[in-house]
Amino acid sequence: MQHTHSHLMRAYARQPVSFVRGNGARLWDEQGVEYLDAIAGVAVTSLGHAHPEIASVIAEQAGMLLHTSNVFRIGWQERLGERLCALAGMQKAFFCNSGAEANETALKLARLHGRRRQVTTPKILVMEKGFHGRTIATLSATGNPENQCGFEPLLPGFLRVPYNDIEAVRRAAAQSPDIVAVLIEPVQGEGGIRAASTEYLRELRALCDRHDWLLMLDEIQAGMGRTGAWFGHQHAGIAPDVVTLAKALGNGIPIGACLARGAAADLFSPGQHGSTFGGNPLACRVACSVLDILARDELPARAAVLGARLLVGLQRALGDHPRVLAIRGQGLMVGIELDRDCKELVGRALEEQRLLITVTRDTVIRLLPPLICDEKQIDDIVLRVARLLSTSVMGGVTTTGMALQAEPTT
Ligand SMILES: *Cc1c(COP(=O)(O)O)cnc(C)c1O
Repeated sequence: MQHTHSHLMRAYARQPVSFVRGNGARLWDEQGVEYLDAIAGVAVTSLGHAHPEIASVIAEQAGMLLHTSNVFRIGWQERLGERLCALAGMQKAFFCNSGAEANETALKLARLHGRRRQVTTPKILVMEKGFHGRTIATLSATGNPENQCGFEPLLPGFLRVPYNDIEAVRRAAAQSPDIVAVLIEPVQGEGGIRAASTEYLRELRALCDRHDWLLMLDEIQAGMGRTGAWFGHQHAGIAPDVVTLAKALGNGIPIGACLARGAAADLFSPGQHGSTFGGNPLACRVACSVLDILARDELPARAAVLGARLLVGLQRALGDHPRVLAIRGQGLMVGIELDRDCKELVGRALEEQRLLITVTRDTVIRLLPPLICDEKQIDDIVLRVARLLSTSVMGGVTTTGMALQAEPTT
């Protein structure tokens, strides 16, 4: 097949590889070359590629009904809402098609919450290095000047504080009576794989209670079992007011959700929010199957086990590597921070190791393997990353010979 991307906008820096087929954690390109997938479509295909149950449910629903619109009741949407609320300790759901839209929904809820409190210029507390999407509102909430550059004026109404710093939140509270909500990731994904501490999240919950702020957890990357719990905030045992989901919820079928409880669950009235495609029968039925499989195969618990294995394996293989500053993660969200820009490693990993990785914040190798990986595949990821870092010429210094202890005893 002859390809050209001259008719695609240059929004992405794409690798010169195109995959045509997948199976579990494996992918094949147009030449039939096999790769190991350690990013799962950026935390989307947690059940792996071509999952037979997902494939058959898509086919069956496509043969029955794809779309009717939210003018009518949608049985699968009602079922999915009930199940997600039960899992997350929430009460009501709104469905959309992406993470950015889920966060837009949360931001609109925060505005309505402010209005009810009679705050005329409501402010939402967001975090340095946070990532919430690419629409104008979610881009304004995002803490990355590189993403924002060129799109000014950004939306006003966001106050930014350092992540994991409760004193900064207290200072913001003292200075700004206009704050109505906090939007935060339990583990920053794009921000370089950093987890909020349990104490921080608990104190944040207490501050939200004291000041009548909505605590809004962006679980779009960390949710759906990836961190070793159904939702990242559950490690801290806190109850947010709003939770946003997308990515792995549909295992590749686009779907996003905004869940809420308490007063936040009843802020919208008919006509105040909507989405043409949001929550259609196909997407909701697939998401119900995703929940079935995650629960039946106990994949959140598997993510904890496999994540620990990945982290220990990487620490053993790369802990002494001269370029590695830190290896950290929660469940199957793992980051390897290097002492320099390493964006080139994405292409090298593909070419030299047949391994899919991403690099975020220029210096952090991010690993987000599917939750259905087996132990051997996790060990294989460790091995290939170790080889990548031992053969790569980084900043002119070859580090060949490092990390040979990564070889598994097979
Ligand atoms: C990916 C992501 C988003 C944006 O989701 P899209 O579906 O790309 O709009 C928002 N928040 C977090 C934490 C994400 O990882």
